[in-house]
Amino acid sequence: MVLGNGEWLLPLEPGQAVSRGWPAATGPVGVTWHWTATRDLLTCSRVLGGKEPVRKGQASAHYAIGRSANEGVHQYVALDNRSWHAGIEQRFRWDGQAVASPNDKASRTTVGVETVDQGFARSGVPADADWIDVDTPDGLTHLRVQPWTDEQLVMMIEIGRMIVARFPHIRPEHHHGHSDLCPTYKQDVLGFPFAALLRGIYQDNTLPDVWTPLRTVVQRQRTLEALGYNLGPSGADGDWGRRSREALTKFHADSGLPAEPFWTTFTCWQAHRKLTALGKSLDSTP
Ligand SMILES: [Zn+2]
Repeated sequence: MVLGNGEWLLPLEPGQAVSRGWPAATGPVGVTWHWTATRDLLTCSRVLGGKEPVRKGQASAHYAIGRSANEGVHQYVALDNRSWHAGIEQRFRWDGQAVASPNDKASRTTVGVETVDQGFARSGVPADADWIDVDTPDGLTHLRVQPWTDEQLVMMIEIGRMIVARFPHIRPEHHHGHSDLCPTYKQDVLGFPFAALLRGIYQDNTLPDVWTPLRTVVQRQRTLEALGYNLGPSGADGDWGRRSREALTKFHADSGLPAEPFWTTFTCWQAHRKLTALGKSLDSTP
């Protein structure tokens, strides 16, 4: 892994998207993973890193991880300090609870890590055959997302291990994507390889994959039914309508999460826990 030699670190001075220190004595309490929506690391680094970033004073991250070992990893903000990421339209905090105060914002509570990935197929960004099928948290839009590379995953695990070696209170359930915090505003990192990443970071192959079996609307509907929620006569039909929204909102309320109709990583963990308690498991049928 090539870690940037420091040339991309943001200077700790007014006008840069970095803040000194952490408000809590513990330091950060989670990790927010992002995608860059770029083809390469250098493009991301010009936007978020160095002395004169394109988004100077607006946004940053602690690290950005390229797609190949050759690209390596660049660091924009030291782990001692806060990077400005995920600030806009944030509804949920690192533990899935509602954001209740500015102190809950990701820029004050989590380490931000960018991964070079083009994101979802769109005009000018065509999907290849191996892109990942995933539905948005509101269940209304189907996306095809560029997969992360094997070399990239190795570097993601290394960076993750550095972060949790420094802040060991950050547990697997404290990792999430930008879209889990801002489900009405962001799509990154839908389709993310959380299971492989977290098994690598925590060196625990027994960690469950609670994400892959819940990527699509029909999988989420089947899971809600398995959990005892009634979706009406049409059942798990792949069409995310009012009954599905109401069932998901109720499931969240019953699980101690905010009563909102967005499927996030926090929903995935709760679905896994509740199914396990019922003696069932997640169904990985697409
Ligand atoms: Zn993001």
